[in-house]
Amino acid sequence: MTASTHYDCIIVGGGVTGTALLYELARFTDLKRLLLLERRERPAQVNSHAHNNSQTIHCGDIETNYSLEKAAAVKRTASMIVNYATKLPARERERIIFTMPKMVLGVGARECGYLRGRFQAFRSLYPRMRLLERRDIADIEPNVALVDGTWRRDEIVATGTPDDYCAVDFQALAESFAAQCVRMDRSSDRLVSQLYGTEVSGIEKDGGLYVLQTSRGPMLARAVVVCAGGHSLLMAQKMGFGSEYSCLPMAGSFYFAPEALEGKVYTVQNPKLPFAAVHGDRDIATDGKTRFGPTALMLPMLERYNPATIRDFFQVLNLDRDVIATLWDLMKVRDIRNYVLRNFLYEVPWLNRRLFVREIRKIVPDLTAGDIEYAHGFGGVRPQLIDRRTRELKMGEVKIIDGHGIVFNMTPSPGGTSCLGNAEQDMRLVAEHLGARVDWPAFERELLCGHEDTRDVPTPPLAAVC
Ligand SMILES: Cc1cc2nc3c(=O)[nH]c(=O)nc-3n(C[C@H](O)[C@H](O)[C@H](O)COP(=O)(O)OP(=O)(O)OC[C@H]3O[C@@H](n4cnc5c(N)ncnc54)[C@H](O)[C@@H]3O)c2cc1C
Repeated sequence: MTASTHYDCIIVGGGVTGTALLYELARFTDLKRLLLLERRERPAQVNSHAHNNSQTIHCGDIETNYSLEKAAAVKRTASMIVNYATKLPARERERIIFTMPKMVLGVGARECGYLRGRFQAFRSLYPRMRLLERRDIADIEPNVALVDGTWRRDEIVATGTPDDYCAVDFQALAESFAAQCVRMDRSSDRLVSQLYGTEVSGIEKDGGLYVLQTSRGPMLARAVVVCAGGHSLLMAQKMGFGSEYSCLPMAGSFYFAPEALEGKVYTVQNPKLPFAAVHGDRDIATDGKTRFGPTALMLPMLERYNPATIRDFFQVLNLDRDVIATLWDLMKVRDIRNYVLRNFLYEVPWLNRRLFVREIRKIVPDLTAGDIEYAHGFGGVRPQLIDRRTRELKMGEVKIIDGHGIVFNMTPSPGGTSCLGNAEQDMRLVAEHLGARVDWPAFERELLCGHEDTRDVPTPPLAAVC
């Protein structure tokens, strides 16, 4: 083994999570030898690809299932993306983050009452957020408030911001992190390497080192962070970690309509449902289109449109009595049962558009089935974990930490938004393990200040620890 295959830290996976971590380790620590390994030829070709997610910076203002405490933590990590991008030259920034209107829409007396109450509770955390009455909504999103030039019949109200950074191209963001790392690699005596087209097939511990078997031969590291989506759990379980989890890959598909919305319109979440309610978004990567979705369908593969990952799915499903009992408990709830059935039908040709349009008429009332088309080739897979011990479906990201230098990240939505916050936690863990120095003042200047100052918000706790 040559010195060129020895690293302080190796990151597996070059989506927005892995590239954000490489960037933070290179920018804020004194570690000398860093490497990122990614099996695709370029960064962010799986869930972080611009076609495969909803492109939303989730900052907690319109996510009606978040408590105030959760919203504050999410706001801190979401602001890191905006603080990072607003410090870039305009040409680069304009490829990454986008301003547009964003709102959560209440339809009917119950939802409108709920949103008015929520606005009072959340407004101090979001000073730019406004309560939007019918007329305000019509000014911002005419197709939501009006049908053929007259008011829609239902009672509506919304909360949101008419013009703020709320959309992001996670692929462009990952490319920006990767490009910054290339610059740091060239301009210093430190090694900040990225190897694309390089698959990791296994990780073993050998004394104090981790040995990664890769398609370019073995590589050694003192610390490893796996940011490989659902494959992170597969790699963890092969090493004997995370056996308490099973992975349920929830695919999300989208439908296109011609320019129906100016920005993002979310709907009030049904608290009994485990996934975000359908929303409409002006697509930042496909000109002149509004994207509606995502749907939620359990698919037996860890990467969308990649049948080679079907076998991997069966390995991390770990189907046993606890998993079956968890699924059974979920299906006993009528709202969940109907939701699962509906989402299955949204994938059935011919029927899908006719059924889906009924759901999104809540957002744009005069859409017809003829106006929308299934977005072929768009959409990703959310690797949701089931905790077999507690028999619960975990809703956010999960981190498995062995305490001896290896970390595994599973990143369903809003994992794109959390990339820099997640990297902060991993950077802390890696630095502590390796005895490295972190330049926290530079970290604060770059990521916690600027467009939004979140220095007072406490660092959120780790997502989950093994
Ligand atoms: C339908 C949908 C909508 C979403 N909408 C939003 C949203 O609006 N906002 C938001 O914040 N989040 C959203 N998300 C979640 C977000 O897309 C993900 O959390 C985020 O992209 C995860 O990034 P990642 O880098 O962890 O994973 P990925 O982008 O999936 O990257 C994992 C990488 O690991 C690589 N890899 C896997 N195995 C190996 C191996 N053996 N060797 C080497 N490399 C390997 C893969 O090739 C891939 O590049 C959405 C997700 C879906 C599916």
